[in-house]
This record gives sequence, C-alpha cells and structure tokens, in this order.
Amino acid sequence: MSATAEFCRTQISAVSVLVLAVFSLLPLHAFAEEPAACTYTDWTWSVRERRVVDVREVEKPYSALREDERDVTTGCSICREDQVEISLPDLEPFQICKAVAEDVEVALINATEAGFQIDTVTGYRVGRSKGVLDVTGRRTEYSNHSFGLALDINAAKNGLYDRCTEYSSECRLIRGGAWRPGEPGGISPETSLFHEITEMGWQWGGALPGAQKDFMHFSPMGD
Ligand SMILES: [Zn+2]
Repeated sequence: MSATAEFCRTQISAVSVLVLAVFSLLPLHAFAEEPAACTYTDWTWSVRERRVVDVREVEKPYSALREDERDVTTGCSICREDQVEISLPDLEPFQICKAVAEDVEVALINATEAGFQIDTVTGYRVGRSKGVLDVTGRRTEYSNHSFGLALDINAAKNGLYDRCTEYSSECRLIRGGAWRPGEPGGISPETSLFHEITEMGWQWGGALPGAQKDFMHFSPMGD
C-alpha cells in the first residue's frame, strides 16, 4: 500500500470516529421528524378563584416552542401533534405522548388481562396546575398531563386528597370520588395495574410524600 493510500485511510477512519462520537452525544429524539405546527388548548388553574381561567387556543410554529412547553428527557411537548390516541375495548379513547404510547398501551392491556377493571383513563390534558402562584393567585407551571406524560385511571374510585400526609378519614377529597382500594377498579400496590405501570418506570401519585395523595394518578415521578 502506498503512503498516500495509507494516509487517506487514516483520515477517513478519523472522520468516521468523530462523526460517530458527535451523533452518539445527541439524544435519540433529535432525529425524529418534528411537526411543522403546534396547537393546544391552554388554561390556568386559579387557586384563589378555585376554577380554570384564561382558556385559549394556541397555534404556533413548532420551532417556536418555549423551554417550558417541552420535556427535554422524552421530547414530549404540550402540542396535540406530539400525542397519539389509544383506543382499548370498552374504554373512551384517550391521548398520550407518542414517546410512551406503546408502553402505556401494553401496560393497560396486561393489567386488564390480569383482572384489573379499567373504567376511565385521562392522559393528555394541557394546563398550568403546578408550581408557585403568581401575584393573582394562579399556578405557573404545566402539569405532566400537559405533555401527555401522566395517567388518571378510574378517577371516580381513586380521588385526589390534600391535608393527607398519611391516608386516613381525616384527609380532604378535592377531586374525583373517594378512594376504594380492594374494590374492582380501586388502585393499590396490590393491583396488576400498579404492577404494570410501575414496571414501566412510572410512579404512583398515591404514594407521594407530602400532604397530597393522588390515587388515580401515575407519571414518571408520580407528581
Ligand atoms: Zn393526574
């Protein structure tokens, strides 16, 4: 082999190593094709007024998304365009982020086959219901449901409580129906639903530390 050929070979392999190194540093979703537009229905929870306020339709170029409109880890955003619909037998269809849709669908099918009764599911639902309050008493951060990264299952039997560091009859129910563990559709760590969704890597809102217990809710961190 000539010296020139040898030199070229070394150059080419150096370039491919560099290209590989750069690509391996990029998150996988960076290669996924982005939709052109982003649409969603926005609202804010007013703690002071105890109601939803500032409901509006948003449409903007996907490339104009703000940092708080996107989850960096999964690439899920608050755009409708990043959600897919899941349709299971005897269940109203719901939307969830495309990055987790397959895992969620498999988990729910497995849970049902193992005997857990699913009546209702809510996934994607955009809204600022988290974070510190602004001067007018409104929440300032998007919930995990906003990104299609949370599930509320059987809300009528698995309520959201506050004043509830430890669950007891003293806890105050603020959304959904009273918690019914042990009954069909009631969520507890003994159920196949709990097993399947935590197996997926998500956590249960019923085991959150602090004053709130959200028995219907699952998300990556349980919040
Ligand atoms: Zn929830």
